[in-house]
Amino acid sequence: MSKGNIGVTSDNIFPVIKKFLYSDHEIFLRELISNAVDATQKLKTLSSVGEMKGDLGDLRVRVSIDKNKKTLTVSDHGIGMTAEEVDKYINQIAFSGAEEFVNKYKDKTEAIIGHFGLGFYSAFMVSKKVEIFSLSYKGENGANGENGEMVKAVHWSCEGDPEYTMEETIKAERGTDIVLHIDDEFSQYLEDATIEGLLKKYCKFLPVEIAFGKKKEWKDGKEVELDEENIINDVNPAWTRKPSELKDEDYDKFYHELYPMQLEEPLFHIHLNVDYPFNLTGILYFPKIKSNLDVHRNKIQLYCNQVYVTDEVENIVPEYLTLLHGVIDSPDIPLNVSRSYLQSDNNVKKISGYITKKVADKLMELYKADKEEFAKKWDDIKMFIQFGMLTDEKFYEKAKDFALLKNLNGEYATLEEYKAKVKDAQTDKDGNLVLLYTNDPDAHYTYIERAKAKGYDVLLMDGELDVHCMSQAEQKEMGDQPSAVSHQLRFVRIDSDTIENLIKKEDQAKDTYSDEQKEGLRKAFEGLLPSAEDKLRYTVTCEAAAADALPVFLTQNEFMRRMKEMSAHQQGMSFYGQMPDSYNLVVNTAHPLIQELAAKEKEEKGSEEPKKETEVKTVYKLEGEDEKIKQLIDIALLASGQLKGEALAKFVNRSVDLLKE
Ligand code: ADP
Repeated sequence: MSKGNIGVTSDNIFPVIKKFLYSDHEIFLRELISNAVDATQKLKTLSSVGEMKGDLGDLRVRVSIDKNKKTLTVSDHGIGMTAEEVDKYINQIAFSGAEEFVNKYKDKTEAIIGHFGLGFYSAFMVSKKVEIFSLSYKGENGANGENGEMVKAVHWSCEGDPEYTMEETIKAERGTDIVLHIDDEFSQYLEDATIEGLLKKYCKFLPVEIAFGKKKEWKDGKEVELDEENIINDVNPAWTRKPSELKDEDYDKFYHELYPMQLEEPLFHIHLNVDYPFNLTGILYFPKIKSNLDVHRNKIQLYCNQVYVTDEVENIVPEYLTLLHGVIDSPDIPLNVSRSYLQSDNNVKKISGYITKKVADKLMELYKADKEEFAKKWDDIKMFIQFGMLTDEKFYEKAKDFALLKNLNGEYATLEEYKAKVKDAQTDKDGNLVLLYTNDPDAHYTYIERAKAKGYDVLLMDGELDVHCMSQAEQKEMGDQPSAVSHQLRFVRIDSDTIENLIKKEDQAKDTYSDEQKEGLRKAFEGLLPSAEDKLRYTVTCEAAAADALPVFLTQNEFMRRMKEMSAHQQGMSFYGQMPDSYNLVVNTAHPLIQELAAKEKEEKGSEEPKKETEVKTVYKLEGEDEKIKQLIDIALLASGQLKGEALAKFVNRSVDLLKE
């Protein structure tokens, strides 16, 4: 037996490891199993190049618990280690590597989380003693090493201090057993359920079979153990296979392997596969995304050579892509660096650009292949595509050709198609193209009917990102024009003004009222407005809308409303968020009821002293019509869903009284 000091300069590195890695100590299992898998893969490589002869035999990695001895063991039949190798890789290199690591990340615990390659060491996070029993393939069946010396199995043991012991031992089978004597405070790692859970999390798709205990089956209401071993992983997960070998069912099946709790099928998938200038494989799935709320339930999982690393991929793929589901596997994503560094890493940038392009290309392909089918899925993928267009210029450039608008008849079109469709009817007298929309067809029913009566089309824009996308489209349209042309593309909500004002035409109806008469009317209505609440203001205007429109109705300025809506999602715009909701109360001078009222206005000549010769002398007053005006105002409020409580009760009573007359 030999004793020695592990090649670490700082006196006791173990407490440091325990402290720093405390929050993520479960990764020890991933690390040990990764080593076992590596050793097995290395053996396969040696065999394939003819350096290792004979049958490889059983290559399963086994994880077992001995509750009496309080040990957890990871065994492999990989290449194993000679005494020299244990000395080199475990005593020297491994430990010095860890010291460097701990020094480097002393202040950044979060960087340690998700770190890869702390390796063998992490066993000490949960163990009071760790043993290695290993027989190198070189010494298998009593064979001799390269120089003819006997290659013996080795037993290494260390109790969490820099001292270790090493001695020869007898081990019949090639490979390595790592035996962890679990610390009392980590006794959960001696529970089958804990270990099985961790194996499922980290090892589900490792390329070498991992066995843990025996398969179990329910028989006559009892769980019975079968002879067969319980294999944790799928060694050939779909993303590692050729797309040509896979059918849609295989992709769906794999989706459920990834997310066992997910019941819904994905809409479609994208198989990623690139080996230059970086290595990346994976499958991304488009889930149905209805709202922000269910976005983060299933996350994209990041693997490194089939070893699960993390499902926090925010810095690796553009944010909007995190709405997708699936796996990305790349050995080229640096994992042992801080998260903020990731974003500036060139490989990561390239990877992210590649994924963006692949996703956009796939969507384009689907759109071109079957526009109807694509339109059917639109509502479910729209949020994702819009998010991408708003946050990634490159994605926007591609997506604008397949991003769709939907009108109230359920017809879909790209913006360009839609513009062509409504251009003739909805271009105003100044050459601006006005696109009408509603976010609530029920609430805007009367406005919509009026627009339809004029032969206009109305879009349904009820998505969370629609307002932002409209603004983006308007800006892009402006930017695309030569500066001499100033025709605008404008999206306006159907209730933001009278339809006549929204799309102004040459032959617009005019009223015959004098400005003074209109002012008299305006004042009469203004005097009877409901008292303004903090968050609600009304302004009265007189406009000749149309004889068959409502006599009085509310509109809400598009710009202000949109700014308010957008400020809800954006920082730095709270100014708009605090503005009160302001509405226009439009008194429709083209309506017979209003004309009747106007006729009752009394002229009061010279009642106000003119300050200047040019100023208006005539003032009109409307008196004795309060009940009717109140009723008209209430009708406008009611039509916009703003008449509530006491005001509503008063309106109802007044209506009944009016019927009695
Ligand atoms: P890393 O795996 O990042 O190299 P580790 O500390 O986990 O670092 O392991 C150090 C070295 O010890 C490995 O590179 C490998 O050569 C050797 N090793 C660890 N575990 C095994 C094993 N189960 N079988 C064979 N060699 C192993």
